[in-house]
Amino acid sequence: MNKAIKIPLVMTFLFLFFARPLLAAGAENITGLSTQVVFIITIVVSIVFGLILTRIAAETRQAKGKIFTTKAKGRGELDPDEVLRELKNLSGSARSQKKAAMAISSLLEEKVEEKVTVVKQELTEKYGKLVEEKSRVAAEAQKKFKKTLTEKKQTEAIVRSVAAGVVVVNNKGEVLLMNPAAEKLLDTKKEAKIGRRLTEGAREEQLFSLVKSTSLDGETDIEIESNEDTKKILRSSSAVIEDENGQTVGMVTVLNDITKQKELDAMKTQFLSNVTHELRNPIGAIKQSISVILEGTAGELTEPQQKFLSNAKRNLDRLSALVDDILDLAKLEAKKMELNLKPTAMTTVINDVCETVDTWVKNKGISLVKNIEPNLPEINVDPDRVIQILMNIIGNAIKFTPKEGTITVTAGLSEAKDRMVLSVKDTGVGIAKDDLPKIFGKFQQAKNRSAGEKSGTGLGLTIAQELVELHGGKIDVESEEGKGTTFTFFLSMNLTAGSVPK
Ligand code: ADP
Repeated sequence: MNKAIKIPLVMTFLFLFFARPLLAAGAENITGLSTQVVFIITIVVSIVFGLILTRIAAETRQAKGKIFTTKAKGRGELDPDEVLRELKNLSGSARSQKKAAMAISSLLEEKVEEKVTVVKQELTEKYGKLVEEKSRVAAEAQKKFKKTLTEKKQTEAIVRSVAAGVVVVNNKGEVLLMNPAAEKLLDTKKEAKIGRRLTEGAREEQLFSLVKSTSLDGETDIEIESNEDTKKILRSSSAVIEDENGQTVGMVTVLNDITKQKELDAMKTQFLSNVTHELRNPIGAIKQSISVILEGTAGELTEPQQKFLSNAKRNLDRLSALVDDILDLAKLEAKKMELNLKPTAMTTVINDVCETVDTWVKNKGISLVKNIEPNLPEINVDPDRVIQILMNIIGNAIKFTPKEGTITVTAGLSEAKDRMVLSVKDTGVGIAKDDLPKIFGKFQQAKNRSAGEKSGTGLGLTIAQELVELHGGKIDVESEEGKGTTFTFFLSMNLTAGSVPK
């Protein structure tokens, strides 16, 4: 019989058995019915009561079963504790509970095993892929490393075999790389320099001295005095090394021995200087003779004679100017030019130059404007040399400015009052961008010459630049083709004989 029916029936009979005498006595007293009738009524009531209990029990079980299934379904999994708890709550014998528990447990085991197999499979797949990926990355890295190593070796071999000296320093100036040519040029050993500053440990006489640095092409000439009392001149071209963020990480310098070239240059200049020097006297004598003849002291001249002689004198003047320029330049390059410094009023210098070129300017139909700061203090310069600088620059401005143009000469003090700044601005033909870096070079002329214009020597600006630098200054040019040119230079206000740069 079902456990759910058995329990209420047994309970009813037990109740009847023990409570029967009491019930019978009570019923007789209260109702007056016979004991048998009360007994039968009691049995019927008990059976009905038992059936009601059985029904309630069955419904409760059903409800619990529903809740349990819903909970389990909701989570999508079986909780073993919950299962046991629910099993205990179920009616039925311990044996059937155990059986149910075992069935559930084996079901669970099956499920768990299934899940473990799936997870195992997934893990094996994933791990396999990971291992595969890792070995692929490792192989790639190995390949890249090999390639980089080969490239490094190639670069090193190239740097080693380059005839020019190559030195690479980091941002602290410590040497990272030095090729054999650089070792030879700098008279040092790479092992002694790597990781140290280039000048560290160098003997006093080996220290480099800056000869000249040209800002236009970033080249610098350095002079090294070697052991045997011989001088070496190296031309160094440096370039900054930047990382991908634009931060300076070092510098690479290429060194070339230009001692021979410099010696040849010096010989050439010396030869030119000797020749021109020798030319100076005869030219002077011819000029004087022509002047005498032109004045008519040696007799009357016919008109054609006058014309030819005037032409000869003009050309002699040009020849004489060229000779003077060459000699000046030779002196400047040999650092033999001496300045005759004296307190000078710049206004007077500018007025003198403007007066000299006045006729030339008027003949060309150009306006010459002076823009001089009032009350300029006197400045210690060589006035003749400043006149020469201004003559060269203003002369060019006149040559390259067409009719109705304007030339403005400006003079004033710098903001810090330590420099006299002068500029010559014209509204002339201008200079092409490509030509700008060349015009301060020896015998260099831009492609802007107009026919019929007085041809120059190509030395005027070279001399002007050297003279400005000799006065502790610097000259710059700005120009736009078809619009005009401005030359600006400054002269140091504190120049003394001892401070003149050599
Ligand atoms: P040059 O004796 O030929 O004038 P310079 O050294 O004085 O030699 O000038 C070099 C060249 O620079 C000139 O030939 C000319 O081409 C250019 N130049 C100089 N000044 C000017 C200027 N103000 N305007 C245009 N070109 C100029």
